[in-house]
Amino acid sequence: MVTATRPENKVKIGPTQLLINNKWVESASGKRFETINPSTGEVICDVAEADAADVDKAVIAARNAFNQGDWPKLSATQRGQLLYKLADLIEANIEELARLETLDNGKPYQDSLNADLQLVIACYRYYAGWADKIQGKTIPINGPYFCYTRHEPVGVVGQIIPWNFPLLMQAWKLAPALAAGNTVVMKTAEQTPLSALRLGELILEAGFPPGVVNLLSGYGPTAGQAIARHHDIDKVAFTGSTEVGHLIMEAAAQTNLKRVTLELGGKSPNIVFADANLEQAIEGAHFGLFFNQGQCCCAGSRLFVEEKCYDEFVAKSVERAKQRIVGDPFDDNTAQGSQVDRTQFDKVMEYIESGQREGAKLLCGGGRVGDRGYFIEPTVFAEVKDNMKIAQEEIFGPVMSIIKFKDMDEVIQRTNDTVYGLAAAVWTQDISKGHAIANALRAGTVWVNCYDVFDAAAPFGGFKQSGMGRELGEYGLQQYTEIKTVTVKL
Ligand code: NAP
Ligand code: MG
Repeated sequence: MVTATRPENKVKIGPTQLLINNKWVESASGKRFETINPSTGEVICDVAEADAADVDKAVIAARNAFNQGDWPKLSATQRGQLLYKLADLIEANIEELARLETLDNGKPYQDSLNADLQLVIACYRYYAGWADKIQGKTIPINGPYFCYTRHEPVGVVGQIIPWNFPLLMQAWKLAPALAAGNTVVMKTAEQTPLSALRLGELILEAGFPPGVVNLLSGYGPTAGQAIARHHDIDKVAFTGSTEVGHLIMEAAAQTNLKRVTLELGGKSPNIVFADANLEQAIEGAHFGLFFNQGQCCCAGSRLFVEEKCYDEFVAKSVERAKQRIVGDPFDDNTAQGSQVDRTQFDKVMEYIESGQREGAKLLCGGGRVGDRGYFIEPTVFAEVKDNMKIAQEEIFGPVMSIIKFKDMDEVIQRTNDTVYGLAAAVWTQDISKGHAIANALRAGTVWVNCYDVFDAAAPFGGFKQSGMGRELGEYGLQQYTEIKTVTVKL
């Protein structure tokens, strides 16, 4: 089923060096590392490997750009115009960027083009519009004083992003930071450095001043840690595993108390009541779990289905999963491409084994697809119990776990019994039930009769160990400003 990347899809590889102070440079150590095409396992190319010395260089550039030069002289409107220009350039190169994303990540080209890139462009435009609408308040304090607040940029921001939506995670982080006037040192994920670097070229073309955006490809424990521990970085924004989220906070606490925002893992419940439109719920649950090869922080990976419709739901979900086309991500019929790398592939396969070991019922999938690349069959487990590993830990792969429940009170209690709180969904035609669940669940996002609906204007982030702070929308923007109170004696 897995075919070689067709020649007509030859992908143009962009820059492979570090972007520091608007110049493409090799790493201080001269080291480079390979990035692979996960759908073949073959090396695409190598890229510069940043480490602490490069982070230092980038921070100096970002600090200079923040303090002096053209960036702080730009009006808020001009900052917005640069972001609009960037969005236009992305749109002009949309197919090339989508191809590069698919090559490096393994996700279907149709998804890169129609999901990722559309959201990327919308995100830059949304925050471009905010740039000249970031404003404080006048506050009527007691006495002969004039008091007002200013929303100022935090300063030099370190941003560490994951590999599951490379360009989109870059947009969620860069767009609000730049709209608010910060400067950035960003580390991309080791698995997927290429599209972010190509975006660096577009940043130069758009005309951002030197040092405003610095892009470093490199590894977490080296370059990532150097960002988290840096004394001259004012804030770090991180997306990735909860485990590394703890390390980021620790590093901030041990150094300069830099501001920290975290978007971490999840084990999101998706609750289906028997009174739901079952066809829609089955399709929504399928999409909410299998989209992006299951590599979504908000994947609906605990699928709670009411006893009364459980058997029918399970049978139809299995049929639906069996129809999912897995294969060459450049084939337009492909719904599911490759997992991002060998490590993630092995991890998902271990979870599938553990599900079987612990007595969950494997109804379809469970195996590898093809003999090269990291493709996994859409997998469905039924009779999953709350205490099983596959019901507790983030799998980050195409593995659906269907769990039975009896009534509303019980399902609320059981779904909230987790360290995570990123997202949740409920399917019901009873509007009161929908609202009751939305209010009761301890999660940053609740979808009612839909799943994975994202919009640049709607905040996203986690309760509990799924994170701190929010991204997107006005709430996301606030995380990139400091409030200054100015009091003037009259
Ligand atoms: P990860 O290690 O948390 O990676 C996320 C980012 O953090 C990457 O850029 C990574 O660099 C960097 N990083 C790693 N260790 C670091 C450290 N000590 N200090 C600073 N930065 C560090 O996640 P992963 O290993 O790629 O995936 C593991 C699991 O995390 C997945 O299976 C999934 O459960 C979860 N995950 C969640 C999301 C999400 O959207 N919330 C995204 C990706 C993964 P490297 O590229 O070198 O690792
Ligand atoms: Mg890692």
